Amino acid sequence: MQTSTDISRKTSEELFEKSKTYFPGGVNSPVRAFKSVDGNPLFIKKGDGCRIWDEDNNEFIDFCCSWGPLILGHNHPEVFKKVVETMQNGASFGAPTRLENELAELILNRNPFIEKIRFVSSGTEAVMSALRLARGYTGKNKVLKFEGCYHGHVDALLVKAGSGLVTFGESSSAGVPEAFANQTLVLPLNDEAALRECFKEHHADMACVIIEPIPANNGLLLQEKHFLQLLRELCTEYNVLLIFDEVISGFRVAFSGAAELYGITPDMVTYGKIIGGGLPVGAYGASKEIMGKVSPDGPVYQAGTLSGNPVAMAAGIAQLTECSKPGFYETLAEKTNHFTSRINNYANEKNYPFELVSIGSIFWLSFNGKKRIHSAEEIDPNMNGFRIMHRELLNRGVYLGPSGYEVGFVSEAHSLNDLDMAAKAMEEVLDMIYG
Ligand SMILES: *Cc1c(COP(=O)(O)O)cnc(C)c1O
Repeated sequence: MQTSTDISRKTSEELFEKSKTYFPGGVNSPVRAFKSVDGNPLFIKKGDGCRIWDEDNNEFIDFCCSWGPLILGHNHPEVFKKVVETMQNGASFGAPTRLENELAELILNRNPFIEKIRFVSSGTEAVMSALRLARGYTGKNKVLKFEGCYHGHVDALLVKAGSGLVTFGESSSAGVPEAFANQTLVLPLNDEAALRECFKEHHADMACVIIEPIPANNGLLLQEKHFLQLLRELCTEYNVLLIFDEVISGFRVAFSGAAELYGITPDMVTYGKIIGGGLPVGAYGASKEIMGKVSPDGPVYQAGTLSGNPVAMAAGIAQLTECSKPGFYETLAEKTNHFTSRINNYANEKNYPFELVSIGSIFWLSFNGKKRIHSAEEIDPNMNGFRIMHRELLNRGVYLGPSGYEVGFVSEAHSLNDLDMAAKAMEEVLDMIYG
């Protein structure tokens, strides 16, 4: 097979040798280690607009966008300005600031699904706190999740399906006690019969169901709207709280996330990623009644030294102000559609078994033929196509997250011209893979 010249990675390699002596796998979050693609991680020096530069001065059009948070691209002038302005007054106080009110107002004024919110520092923390609140509010213990949804590294959710149809989970990580995993039920996505069965059998002890309404951490497993509606109905019927984990979809597919896009009202929502403008922020929200159970108003304890950190709030305010402008999501989706349909038409004409699956400004490279995939077990585990795509795109100045199970993101900063350049590179690599 014809391959292009590999880019220089000398400085990144040196830094990686060092970082391996400091951190497990040389990284502070596992997917960054390039384990499922060729080569070692690139160390990034800077980002601007839709572009990043590595330590060897290679330039890339970036579709990882920090795994989703950077919906305005890197170094957006308004975010930069607001962060610097805020930082000049001190980094953190551990006391309330007006910035927390401002970010909450921005969110709650445009969000019909929640009445009160609490800021935390990551998506994982938001989910962990939401689960505790669901249990504290309902007085029930069990949690239902779906295979192929990711909710951060929360003990109770590092659980995969065991054997059998409706089943208690088995932990998917060492260090998660069996007793925790036993409190979690796991079902396949998009399976209505299994869902009805599970509610019938377990509703009496089910506190909540948690789902990524747009599952985007294990491929892009778009759900039938009917499945999500059924989930809503069953939760209402059986008095089980419905949690939409919108850490990736919130402020991404619409300002109020998948709940807005599908017009389905969850009981609780978790946010992260975009909400912090590139700084560490997460949040969970619900009705006044449910949030009334959170300390200090109620008995469910949850706290954070850096929660509502002013600099992080500032970045969130600046970013969500941009996202609130009329037409923001429509423009972004149109641009993404220009990109994905160009590549999909190309693959179609050449009869390549490849598709860019997309919703809003999220896309996923599906090497699964033309079949629409709705659940985790349908994904072809052979990631060879992705491996070639990843390496060859780096050689052509395009950066994708280093895993075929992860999605890509288009930001406001990607111009049609940038997207055409990236599309041309992707078409060349498709020819290399299938031609
Ligand atoms: C990223 C993500 C998380 C975890 O957020 P962190 O900030 O990485 O802890 C949880 N749920 C979903 C849906 C996510 O996409």
